[in-house]
Amino acid sequence: MERPKGFLGGSVHDAALRTADVLAVLTPWPGNTLAPGTPEERSRLIEVLRDYGESEAACLSPADLTDLRRSAARLRPVFAAADAVAAADQINALLAERAHPPRLTAHGNASGWHLHVDSSDDAPWGEWFLTSSCLALAVLMAERQAPPAAFCASPSCGRPFVNIGRGPYCSPACGTRERVAAHRAAGGAVKG
Ligand SMILES: [Zn+2]
Repeated sequence: MERPKGFLGGSVHDAALRTADVLAVLTPWPGNTLAPGTPEERSRLIEVLRDYGESEAACLSPADLTDLRRSAARLRPVFAAADAVAAADQINALLAERAHPPRLTAHGNASGWHLHVDSSDDAPWGEWFLTSSCLALAVLMAERQAPPAAFCASPSCGRPFVNIGRGPYCSPACGTRERVAAHRAAGGAVKG
């Protein structure tokens, strides 16, 4: 499905998922097997961006990639926030530093009307990613009244994910693995 660039409205959730998926490629976490700067990492990033409708992602320059990596790193504290107050503080600080006044764009009729807080439709990739991520995470947090994102609580995973209230793990697989491990640990303690 093609999604317009930075589309917000019906797809705040998609935009937040895109943020988590890009961080999963461009930032370190225990289960991340993609080495920074490799062709595999670049291919995966392009694949993720295309999945979210960013068809021009194939043209990413090395400078764009560096810029995106820097923006992804800036978003990590939002995911690491211990509670809603900390998450709001982190998002507000990034918005105060990087966001421009909200403006509606339809990319010259190439998409539906939606909200951007970057400087222009031609803003660099890193600026677009950082500001659209902050906007999506802010809207999601206001909707859910809880931190909008986190790192998976499984020590062997640690993947960045969007918090939709299904617990501290990024996937059912991680939740099951950790419950089995906890059960085994408890059993061992009883026998021990
Ligand atoms: Zn996980």
